Amino acid sequence: MRVLLVEDDAMIGRELTAALERQGMIVDWVRDGPTGAEAMAVGTHAIVLLDIGLPGQSGLCVLRDARRSGIATPVLVITARDGLDERIEGLNLGADDYIIKPFDFRELIARMRATLRRHNGAAQSLLQAGAITLDLSNHTLAYQGTSLVLPAREFSLMQALMLRPGTILSRTQIEERIYGWGEEVESNAVDVLIHTIRKKFDRDIIHNVRGAGWMVLKGGS
Ligand code: CA
Repeated sequence: MRVLLVEDDAMIGRELTAALERQGMIVDWVRDGPTGAEAMAVGTHAIVLLDIGLPGQSGLCVLRDARRSGIATPVLVITARDGLDERIEGLNLGADDYIIKPFDFRELIARMRATLRRHNGAAQSLLQAGAITLDLSNHTLAYQGTSLVLPAREFSLMQALMLRPGTILSRTQIEERIYGWGEEVESNAVDVLIHTIRKKFDRDIIHNVRGAGWMVLKGGS
């Protein structure tokens, strides 16, 4: 899962990035409002963590402009303890939730998951496509009697496919969802990941549509 972090505080930014990466997430960290707005417009992130006090443009302005231009990516606003007004404004402008600084990292993760569940319309942290099950809380993929915890990149790939069963994702669409900016992506990286997942489970788990991309079937395989 690819996360956009908009935060100008270097220490918080570094710690958050490291902690999210330990959870297997891919983090794009930007440090000012205008860059945050540009990054949101690209639309490749599953969720945005948005600080309010930012150089250039406040997080609230970034949020307002993004929602006005139809960007629906879930946003979790990061606010100060005494920032009641900005929390209310943030929610009114289209934030999905907020977290108060200083926060416990476990609470942040739980709120991110809850926000994503609501956004994806799932009642629990389980994605299902026919016989394939992906548990978002512990990155466990289960299929045909095999159940394994997936490494970060394999997990992100399966999550991307299972969020839209029956929909083909192209190589570029997959790369955008599982690699951060500035990461060197080998031209066959997606093929290697898919090969690895198929080897662990079964060839049928991911379907190849020649010339178009890959998908998991709606009714499973
Ligand atoms: Ca700040």
